[in-house]
Amino acid sequence: MKTPKKGVNTICAHVGELKDKEFKGAVSPLYMSTSYEFEDVEVKRYPRYFNTPNQEALGKKLAALENTEAAMIFGSGMAAISTALMSFLQAGDHVVFQQTLYGGTYNFAVTQLEKYGISFSFTNGWGIPDFEKEIKPNTKVIFIETPSNPLLTVTDLKGIAQLAKSRGLLTMIDNTFASPINQNPGNFGIDVVLHSATKYMGGHSDICAGVVATSNENMEKIFQTAICFGGSLSDYTVWLLERSIKTMGIRVKAQNENAMKMAKYLSVSDDVENVYYPGLEIHPDHDLAKSQMNGFGGMLSFELHSGIDVSQFFKQLKLIKPSMSLAGIESTVLSPTKTSHALMSPGDREKQGIKDSLIRFSLGIEETEDLIQDIEQAINQVKSMQVPA
Ligand SMILES: *Cc1c(COP(=O)(O)O)cnc(C)c1O
Repeated sequence: MKTPKKGVNTICAHVGELKDKEFKGAVSPLYMSTSYEFEDVEVKRYPRYFNTPNQEALGKKLAALENTEAAMIFGSGMAAISTALMSFLQAGDHVVFQQTLYGGTYNFAVTQLEKYGISFSFTNGWGIPDFEKEIKPNTKVIFIETPSNPLLTVTDLKGIAQLAKSRGLLTMIDNTFASPINQNPGNFGIDVVLHSATKYMGGHSDICAGVVATSNENMEKIFQTAICFGGSLSDYTVWLLERSIKTMGIRVKAQNENAMKMAKYLSVSDDVENVYYPGLEIHPDHDLAKSQMNGFGGMLSFELHSGIDVSQFFKQLKLIKPSMSLAGIESTVLSPTKTSHALMSPGDREKQGIKDSLIRFSLGIEETEDLIQDIEQAINQVKSMQVPA
C-alpha cells in the first residue's frame, strides 16, 4: 500500500526534521560543521555539495511541499534561477521567457546569456500561442512566471507543459508569488520549479534564500552546475528557513484570506480605479487560476483614481509600509513605476498595462479592519491636502 500524502501543514511542521538523539530536543539540531569524515561513510559531506545534514533535511521538506522527487536550497532566489538555467543551456541554445518576468531574471537574461552564446526571446503575452510563436529550432527551455508581477496574470501550466513536451523542451517556472502552498506546478507537468525563498518561505523579511524542486534526473544536472557556481546557503540560515517554513501553511492561508478581503474592499471603493487579483471573478484569468491554484495568493495590485497622488498616499500610511520586498507577515506596498519597472520606458510599461498610479500590495497577517482604516485615513489626508483652502 502506498503511504497517503501528508497534509500540507504536517509537511511544513515535520517532514525531513532531524532527530536529536542525544538530548531529545524538540527541533532539528543545527550542524555548522564544514568538515566531515571521509573514510567509511556513505556520503562525502560539504556545504558547497549541498549535502550537509541540515541542507538534506530541509530539501526533503521542500520536495514534499512541491511534490517533486528532489529539492535543493540556494543562497538566493537568483542563485537558484541562474544555476538552473545554466544547467540546461549551452552555446547555440535559445530560451523563451515570459514577457512579465521578475526584474532580476530579466537582468540575468539581457546582461549574461549572450556572453555564453545563448540567445533568448520574450513573449508578447502569456497565452499559449504567445509562447509557441517564439519557439525556434534551437530552443531548449521555456521559462514562465505565474501569477506574474505586478498585474497577477496567470499562465496555463498544463498548456505550457503540453506545448513543451510536444517540442521536446524543458519547462521552468518561477513559483515565488504562489508559494508551494498555493500552487504545485510539478503536478501539471512543469519540469523545474524555482522559488525565491526570501519571500513566502522565509516569510518574516529576514532570510535571503532560493529553492529548486524537480526530478532526481534533472537535479543531478543542476547539482553538477551548482557545485561549480557555489551558490549554497549557510547552514545557520538553512536551519532558520526550516523554522520559518513550519508556519508557512498557516501564514499563507491568512495572507490569501486578507488579499481576498482587501481585493473585495478595494474593488468597491470610490477612490480606486482597478483591482488586479486572480481571486476576483472579474479578473480575466480567474477560471484558469481556480483550476490550477489551491489559493489565489497574498499579492494584489490596484490603481488609485488619478486625483490621488501615489507618493503622497504612501507618505500618509501609518501601518502599511512602502517597501521593496514582499510576502512578509507585515503588509507592504510598492510603486512598480518607481521601483521594479523604473528602468523600463514609459511606452513599454504602458504596453504591459503598468500605469503610474499602480500600487502593488503584499498582504501580511494583520486584521483587515486595521488595513482598511489605514488606507482610508491616508486617502482622506491626501485629499484634504490637495483641496485648496
Ligand atoms: C525576489 C524574487 C526573486 C529573486 O529572489 P532573491 O532571493 O532576491 O534572489 C525571483 N523571482 C521573484 C518572483 C521574486 O519576487
